[in-house]
Amino acid sequence: MIKFLDLEKVNNRFRGEIDFRIKNILDKGWYLQGEENEKFSKDFASYCGAKFALGVANGLDALRLIIKAYGFGAGDEIIVPANTYIATILAISDNGCTPVLVEPNINTYNINPDLIEEKITPKTKAIMVVHLYGQAVQMQKIWDLAKKYNLKVFEDSAQAHGAIYQGRRTGNLSDAAAFSFYPGKNLGCMGDGGAVTTNDEEIYNKIKALSNYGSDRKYHHIYKGLNSRLDEIQAAVLDVKLPHLDDDNIRRREIAKYYRENIINPKIILPKAYDELAHVWHVFAVRTKERDKFQEYLTDNGIQTIIHYPTPPHKQLAYAEWNGLSLPITEEIHKTIISIPMSPVMTDDDVQKVVEIINAY
Ligand SMILES: *Cc1c(COP(=O)(O)O)cnc(C)c1O
Repeated sequence: MIKFLDLEKVNNRFRGEIDFRIKNILDKGWYLQGEENEKFSKDFASYCGAKFALGVANGLDALRLIIKAYGFGAGDEIIVPANTYIATILAISDNGCTPVLVEPNINTYNINPDLIEEKITPKTKAIMVVHLYGQAVQMQKIWDLAKKYNLKVFEDSAQAHGAIYQGRRTGNLSDAAAFSFYPGKNLGCMGDGGAVTTNDEEIYNKIKALSNYGSDRKYHHIYKGLNSRLDEIQAAVLDVKLPHLDDDNIRRREIAKYYRENIINPKIILPKAYDELAHVWHVFAVRTKERDKFQEYLTDNGIQTIIHYPTPPHKQLAYAEWNGLSLPITEEIHKTIISIPMSPVMTDDDVQKVVEIINAY
């Protein structure tokens, strides 16, 4: 069987180094807010080209903390793509803000910048973009709108570690960006983990305090904070893997290129990249009518697939108030999308086999 993502194989490449770093932590007996976090956050900030990075407990918390740090809450609106993983939207409503859903562009699957301006009201505080499936959003129009209406811009970069837009990496394309290091992401740890990046020192300090019980020094609480920190063990694992992220993304691009050049089946719509460096192919999502039938065919032929995502946020029970909304492009994507195997540890044979089986469908 060709796995969608062979995580064991992904992490076993670094087994020796990871064992060594974890043993060191055990020997030292220091598990939180220590040298491993210090080192990794410096390295990750510099990788993204941002001034600051802070490890937090997970990607959802990274998003929540950003909105909280800017002081947005009840009565404030934040513009967000309707076509995203629900975490982006949960972070907005968790802070008491109103998520304002915008349809995606059917070619990029990312928020359609041309549909944003009509959604801006006097209550709008920020635009939250999502670099979905690993493709950096084309930010220029969004930056222009933010300037015109005095809005903040945030990135959900949980799927796009290393993607580049106009020579800058995600995490350095907005006021503040959220990353997830969930095991299956392009840079993943061995459990939950996340980070915020920003160039704003004041916001960095505020998020640092907010993530640690609102404390700027021990037993001194200046905000009503959370407990959301990255463990030393996870920071060490990430520090081992970060130097290999670019190579992994290069391999993902190679596989994506092969798929795009060799999958020739009129029933299958292939994803597009507006620029090679803009996409890090977190997933390779194709679209097809009768998606469930196609998925069954691939399963029967030993190819594992995942659907990102079967139900859009506005059709989830958690957002019952939106269930009647019609967002046809988002719904069309959710009905037809399916992700085929994509990971840096796939062999050329695996990739060829996937192509052959899809072409025979
Ligand atoms: C994975 C993901 C998140 C959430 O990250 P966690 O670390 O699982 O909390 C948020 N947004 C997007 C787009 C994601 O893919």
